[in-house]
Amino acid sequence: MKRQGIAVLGSTGSIGLSTLDVLRRHPERYRVVALTAFSQVERLFDQIRAFRPEVAVMVDPDAAAQLAERVRGAGLATTVLAGAEALSEVVRLEEVDQVMAAIVGAAGLLPTLAAAEAGKRILLANKEALVMSGNLLLEATRRSGARLLPIDSEHNAIFQCLPDHFEQGLETVGVHQILLTGSGGPFRTLPLEQLAHVTPDQACAHPNWSMGRKISVDSATMMNKGLELIEACLLFRTTPDRIRIVVHPQSLIHSMVQYVDGSVLAQLGQPDMRTPIAHALAWPERMTAGVEPLDFYQVGNLDFEAPDPERFPALRLAEAAARQGGTAPTVLNAANEVAVQAFLDGRIPFTRIAELVAAVMEAIESVAATDLETILNVDRQAREAARQQLAQQDGKPS
Ligand code: NAD
Ligand code: MG
Repeated sequence: MKRQGIAVLGSTGSIGLSTLDVLRRHPERYRVVALTAFSQVERLFDQIRAFRPEVAVMVDPDAAAQLAERVRGAGLATTVLAGAEALSEVVRLEEVDQVMAAIVGAAGLLPTLAAAEAGKRILLANKEALVMSGNLLLEATRRSGARLLPIDSEHNAIFQCLPDHFEQGLETVGVHQILLTGSGGPFRTLPLEQLAHVTPDQACAHPNWSMGRKISVDSATMMNKGLELIEACLLFRTTPDRIRIVVHPQSLIHSMVQYVDGSVLAQLGQPDMRTPIAHALAWPERMTAGVEPLDFYQVGNLDFEAPDPERFPALRLAEAAARQGGTAPTVLNAANEVAVQAFLDGRIPFTRIAELVAAVMEAIESVAATDLETILNVDRQAREAARQQLAQQDGKPS
């Protein structure tokens, strides 16, 4: 069997590290062609030494210069490229068969789109790219014949619980509804009046998953589940009416599909992203992921509850955006990225994140998301509106 060439976008992040851990276990199946990161020189250098990719991209130019120096000094053959455009260049390389899209946020859109246009198999972790671009990314994959496989654990679980021909429509294949599960994050049971005082470190201490800081905050507000609702509508071509969000604190069921005959199929496993990553890399085959088998003698209880709308206002905002369609999800995502960063920087309290997103959604009218230019424009507009809100607030005496 010819080895598959892999490009890992965002290789120094949480998903990137898990991906390399899986790839390291299967050198006979995969070779790493390209690795990319934003600015972490030491970490990317170590990865280059271990995986010997043909090319590495560092978006930050100063970091790229330092990395190039290190690579030359070590006598390694990897070409080091700088700047965001190089991300789109490397995914198009002929040697690349599969692209792991694991950049966080809107910055991942263009390279992921480039991979879609080039007909590469895309392993999509970067949900923001899909949420902000609506059908654009999916249409690009359909036009080129590219395959898109979900890495987000819930969507990967749903994909595993659906029949192969689900693209004919969920009704056609007998699906009653999708049960999208989520842990409820670190503040599920915190007294409501304390929510305004939680710190970024508390928000990033997820009970079950170890993840990057942005998605960790999204999990705490449950905006992550909101983005995932939109992601599921797009990937499985359905509407919020066919998706029910279920809080499941143990994170052992990663989502379920309920059929019209009363059957419910669930995918279970350890909360370890190496499972969906290995699944998507090897699909339709299976291979080891380095994940311990789930021991049902040790599992204990599985609990379920409805999400509390007062505690998690982000869910209502995301659902509204999903129903509105057009560029509403683009606005939601952009405002949320700015708000989460402001929270992580200590500029706003936790509870202000959803308020800020709501205000920006009020201010910017949704238009049809017909082309990339419109989407990028709306994304910019929404970020600007969010920053203005922040500036106004900073200007107010406290
Ligand atoms: P992370 O912050 O740990 O890593 C982000 C990666 O993207 C890093 O390699 C960083 O160098 C790179 N990056 C950041 N900004 C960039 C920019 N402007 N240009 C180019 N590269 C940039 O994030 P993560 O937790 O690995 O999440 C990555 C994506 O996967 C997110 O979209 C997240 O929602 C999704 N996801 C993550 C998990 C998880 O368990 N971590 C689970 C499901 C989905
Ligand atoms: Mg998820």
